[in-house]
Amino acid sequence: YCGMVAIVGRPNVGKSTLLNQLLGQKVSITSRKPQTTRHRIMGIHTDGDSQVVFIDTPGLHMEEKRAINRLMNRAASSSIADVCMVIFVVDGMHWTADDEMVLNKLRRGADERKTVLAVNKVDHIKDKEALFPYLQELGQKFPFDEIVPISAKSGTNVGKLLSLARQCL
Ligand code: GDP
Ligand code: MG
Repeated sequence: YCGMVAIVGRPNVGKSTLLNQLLGQKVSITSRKPQTTRHRIMGIHTDGDSQVVFIDTPGLHMEEKRAINRLMNRAASSSIADVCMVIFVVDGMHWTADDEMVLNKLRRGADERKTVLAVNKVDHIKDKEALFPYLQELGQKFPFDEIVPISAKSGTNVGKLLSLARQCL
């Protein structure tokens, strides 16, 4: 059986790095430069006879003036239409207006899927004590099914996301 999971978030939060870490392969290009991922990239995680399809999306943009941004937004929005779970990736403790906009897009149709918040780049956070209250604060924004602090780069807690994804099979 096979389920679909979309990885969404603003540019540069580590979505492609997470996809590669989930799959254990470099299927999606990652870069310090925003807008490296310009269309949907899918990767399949196979375990026995079950499969999870992960969809890496281009970052969602606030600025819709440029045609490329409009196209990327459309690709990202259509990716979340029929998935069983969305992994919403944010960058450490830097919540921005773009994150707020992505979250607002996720509210629509949220009843029909799981929404997991992945707080990425925790390897970068110096004040580890501030992280827990911060995660609780994020929990006030939306009824996330789970909030998971991760490091897509080093793999910390990425296995937790994988098991959540497999639960929705
Ligand atoms: P995307 O635009 O959301 O797909 O982001 P990318 O996966 O391309 O990553 C953007 C930048 O963040 C790259 O320079 C990555 O190496 C870096 N990055 C991603 N995940 C992590 C992480 O867990 N820790 C740290 N320190 N850097 C990360
Ligand atoms: Mg990317």
